[in-house]
Amino acid sequence: MYESSVRVRKYEPMWPSDTRDYELAIVQRKFEAARRTGGFDALANGEELLHSASMLTLHPNCEICDADLPPETDQARICTYECTYCASCAEAVLKGVCPNCGGNIVPRPIRPKGAWRSGTGLDNHPASTTRRHNKYSVEDRKALSDKLKDTPAQDR
Ligand SMILES: [Zn+2]
Ligand SMILES: [Zn+2]
Repeated sequence: MYESSVRVRKYEPMWPSDTRDYELAIVQRKFEAARRTGGFDALANGEELLHSASMLTLHPNCEICDADLPPETDQARICTYECTYCASCAEAVLKGVCPNCGGNIVPRPIRPKGAWRSGTGLDNHPASTTRRHNKYSVEDRKALSDKLKDTPAQDR
């Protein structure tokens, strides 16, 4: 976890004074959102903070079976909240229904290893190392899945 006030204060000189307060407010808001969702791990400067606040968090494991899901795998699945599952759990256990939000679950994009554009890629934005585990019981998850699995995601 980060102390946002400390980090944000450090970036102040980056912005011209007339826009600084506005920019800071945006950064602060994005930071708080990222912090709440267990967001980014490595931040080096203000520009990176802006990037980080809007990028996908690559969680390291399936929150159902705890299988490793490194950033390069094609087996990771996510919902819009970045709740992360392996392909097997997403299909066989969850029936495509995220047990945390009821949304659909899709393949997670693979972040490039290379920094093909300045400040991008895994070296600049590494995967999270914080393992997460689903907080709902098997029965609870099944109940939500049974309720929603036959309803198209756009109608839930
Ligand atoms: Zn799994
Ligand atoms: Zn979800």
